Amino acid sequence: MARVYNFSAGPAMLPESVLQQACDEMLDWRGSGMCVAEMSHRGKEYMSIAAEAEADLRELLNVPNNYKVLFLQGGASSQFAAVPMNLLRGGSSADYINTGSWSKKAISEARHYCSNVNVAATTEESKFTRAPVPAEIQLSGDAAYLHYTPNETIEGVEFAYIPETGGCPLVADMSSTLLSRPIDISRFGLIYAGAQKNIGPAGLTIVIVREDLIGMPIAGTPTMFDYKIHADNDSMYNTPATYAWYLAGLVFKWLKDLGGLDAMAIINQRKAALLYNAIDSSSFYANPVQPTDRSWMNVPFTLANPALDDAFLKGAKAANLTTLKGHRSVGGMRASIYNAMPEAGVAALVEFMREFERTQG
Ligand code: PMP
Repeated sequence: MARVYNFSAGPAMLPESVLQQACDEMLDWRGSGMCVAEMSHRGKEYMSIAAEAEADLRELLNVPNNYKVLFLQGGASSQFAAVPMNLLRGGSSADYINTGSWSKKAISEARHYCSNVNVAATTEESKFTRAPVPAEIQLSGDAAYLHYTPNETIEGVEFAYIPETGGCPLVADMSSTLLSRPIDISRFGLIYAGAQKNIGPAGLTIVIVREDLIGMPIAGTPTMFDYKIHADNDSMYNTPATYAWYLAGLVFKWLKDLGGLDAMAIINQRKAALLYNAIDSSSFYANPVQPTDRSWMNVPFTLANPALDDAFLKGAKAANLTTLKGHRSVGGMRASIYNAMPEAGVAALVEFMREFERTQG
């Protein structure tokens, strides 16, 4: 059976060698006589798997020692609540940049916990086809943190810069961009990401947080939403997503073998350029995003004649190119080309697009 090129926005493709290794280790992990999914999270074997994954992630991202790395559950959506619960620290005001669907969700959730959510910048008037320029960002001055979404998964909009905050902690929802390239962790107070794009399977959520920001949750914060509890218990306060954590660890090894995030960034940039060039060089396909703010990971595009959308999707599927339908809120197509999408997959998509345009356009 041939594997397909899966352009899903998440859960997304995993590297084939990772899946093969998981398969080889499925029934008997290194002589333990059991599958990792059957291991106690407090046993010696699992503890070594968990610690190695954390060490590899720290190495890949060059995480400074004064940051905790947490392996949680609940998805990035839980972090929309956990962030204000933990980071307001006695304050009542937070700044949020609104660049699309996921920013909006973060903002509306924050309003449950924070009496003053200030929208420091919004690009809604452009239908979220760009990131704000630095001068547009109006900080309130008394905010406990500034939250933004470096990569909007649905609109395919990405910040080409890290916002300045004048000392206030910067919080980033990196769900669809973490591990796509190197980042300077020290610029951030907190980073979070659901795993199901560049990290591993769904069910695992990564939080990287500066130590001094945790330990002052608002009254009534559920124990499971208190970062300090998880930090003090090495993310094993309760049963973690053990198998997802193990698979993420295999993905981290794959990234290290590939040459780390510098090497990954070069490949990702090449994949994105190939696809955007194909779109821009045709009058049949279009991407609405301002070129400077185009995502390397999620590439939405429309066909000149939407009546051909179904034929496009059908033809793509027949060519082993799947899950290209755009998000229901924006329509058209979307190709998510995360780390594990091979360059050959993007090349196959571009070839299919050219052929479809030639025969149907
Ligand atoms: N933020 C962003 C940027 C996302 O892309 C997603 C998922 N597509 C989420 C948040 C929500 O993540 P989860 O489904 O893990 O709660």
